[in-house]
Amino acid sequence: QKTLDVNAVRRDFPILAETVNGKPLVYLDNGASAQKPVAVLDAMERYYRECHSNVHRGAHTLGDRATAAFEGARETVRRFINAASTRQVIWTRGTTEAINTIANGLADRLQPGDEILVSTMEHHANIVPWQMVAQRTGAKVLPIQVTPQGELDLDALDSLLQSDRARILAVTHVSNVLGTVNPVRELIAKAKAKGVLTVIDGAQAVPHYRPDVQALDCDFYAFSGHKLFGPTGIGVLYGREALLEEMEPFMGGGEMIERVSFERTTWNTLPYKFEAGTPPIAEAVGLGAAIDYVEGLGRNALETAEQALLQRANELVETVPGMTVIGTAKEKVPVLSFKIDGLHPSDIGTLLDQQGIAIRTGHHCAMPLMEFFCVPGTARASFAFYNTLDEVEQFFAALQKIQRLFAE
Ligand code: PMP
Repeated sequence: QKTLDVNAVRRDFPILAETVNGKPLVYLDNGASAQKPVAVLDAMERYYRECHSNVHRGAHTLGDRATAAFEGARETVRRFINAASTRQVIWTRGTTEAINTIANGLADRLQPGDEILVSTMEHHANIVPWQMVAQRTGAKVLPIQVTPQGELDLDALDSLLQSDRARILAVTHVSNVLGTVNPVRELIAKAKAKGVLTVIDGAQAVPHYRPDVQALDCDFYAFSGHKLFGPTGIGVLYGREALLEEMEPFMGGGEMIERVSFERTTWNTLPYKFEAGTPPIAEAVGLGAAIDYVEGLGRNALETAEQALLQRANELVETVPGMTVIGTAKEKVPVLSFKIDGLHPSDIGTLLDQQGIAIRTGHHCAMPLMEFFCVPGTARASFAFYNTLDEVEQFFAALQKIQRLFAE
């Protein structure tokens, strides 16, 4: 079993050596976007220096190199999520585009009165596309409630599933605000028993866990490259092949067609049917490199290191008077959303930044969840495996200082 050498790992991420406002950077905004290792930066640069051309069409060597690198990355993703075939691995710009593609593709199946179940803890990316499709089709979007601890209320899901109008269950694997890890396998099994299609938003899960889409038995799974230590502008949509075959593509253009004529245009085979236009080739290559890098570190080692950060953070909460953590689920990734009595979240963010510490504040694209917890927003520290226990302590020392300043 591998253990993580955090100091060695930190050297793989050049940006972590930056100074901010004269202080060494403490980057605790990994939930918004994670930093990139040299392996990713090098893979992208090498691609542009040695391989770049358009894919799938060149009658020349560079075209072949670019295609091999691009399709090689798709195979890396396939292995990462254990999809049966690369036909089921579709490149998108990110989770948002993946979920929009799924929602549009499933619209034809929806009738007025059909129900789309999401949860109160969803990111807007897993709410709004469904609302847009509901508006077009007459379907309804219904929220599954969460408990005060920030876990999904499974009884609420059971009663929503009693309705024979439920068609789609779209839930997040891990909450970006609360850090809650949802029991997606159980949720999928419950939905499946009722013939309800399942869409899993894996944006916050893949930085911490390796999803096995076959073991989960989900119909769709979506994630973004940039939260998985890869580049921006690239994401993945995994889907069950029979469903992807039936779904209409969201965008038309080059690459996604088989034949075009003014009488009749036909679609390309999977996965290309959903990949209109020149794809983000270097970004796909970068994401492949990110997956190789993270998997090379060993998921068990990463999880052990991350849970140690979370545990230390939880222990230190009581050292800050008036600090309350929102989201105390039993199973959590290292994310700490919190409020401090008498302090506005955005002030906390600004004052931490002055000390070189980066967190996120606001509604975190989860307004319904903010409403549920009766807060306008929270401050959120989200940790990655390259964060250190020392950084956790610096973060709490900074919070104590801020709290004292405002108490005076
Ligand atoms: N879902 C969740 C749970 C997220 O945290 C995010 C990003 N904050 C998204 C979806 C959207 O991802 P992207 O902006 O990369 O499309």
